[in-house]
Amino acid sequence: MRVLVVEDEVRLANNIAEALRERCGFAVDCAEDGTDGAAMTEFKHYDLLLLDLMLPGLDGLSIVRQVRRRKDMTPILILTARDQPAQVVELLNAGADDYLTKPFDLGELLARAKALIRRGKGAPQPELTVGRISLNTVEQTVRCAGELIDLSPTEYRLLEYLIFRPRAIVSARELLEHLYDYNWQHHSNVIEAHVSNLRKKLRAVGEETTIATLRGRGYRLEAPEQQL
Ligand code: CA
Repeated sequence: MRVLVVEDEVRLANNIAEALRERCGFAVDCAEDGTDGAAMTEFKHYDLLLLDLMLPGLDGLSIVRQVRRRKDMTPILILTARDQPAQVVELLNAGADDYLTKPFDLGELLARAKALIRRGKGAPQPELTVGRISLNTVEQTVRCAGELIDLSPTEYRLLEYLIFRPRAIVSARELLEHLYDYNWQHHSNVIEAHVSNLRKKLRAVGEETTIATLRGRGYRLEAPEQQL
């Protein structure tokens, strides 16, 4: 999953980004300015936008309006400086999905971020299953018939992203976009290598669910009899 954090308090932004990366395994891009942040939402497809309300350039509310005007339904979580009921109503009416008032508990922010991403992908429960596999987005663990499968962080992120897109053909480019942030040098053969390792690990535990490669088009998670 890839998250955009638009926050002008650099220390806070860094803390949030670090927690999202290390505790949720997300790829994170940051912008300190509302105008830059708004532009980034046009170039990349994010799985969540985390916007501060008061920003230099363009404020959080204006960004929400711009995004929704494009019919972009990416989940949006707003950080407000203090409780401002009128502004909160305005934010929710403009299409923001949730908000948190500063100072907030980082654990709560992460839980809300994950819940919004799941809901945005039509999967409100923290556990997702396919075939005999169950993936727990809170623990970031994957089990096959109850037994833990040892996956690298990238393999986990890859499987998580594919499970959220059942039956869809997902291109290598889309995977690169959602699994890595701006600082990463993109090479689609890296995706092929991770897919191949993940496939082997699933096969090793006797799981029939696999990741099919559709030449020139991308990847698709395929369960036996398509029980997705
Ligand atoms: Ca601010």
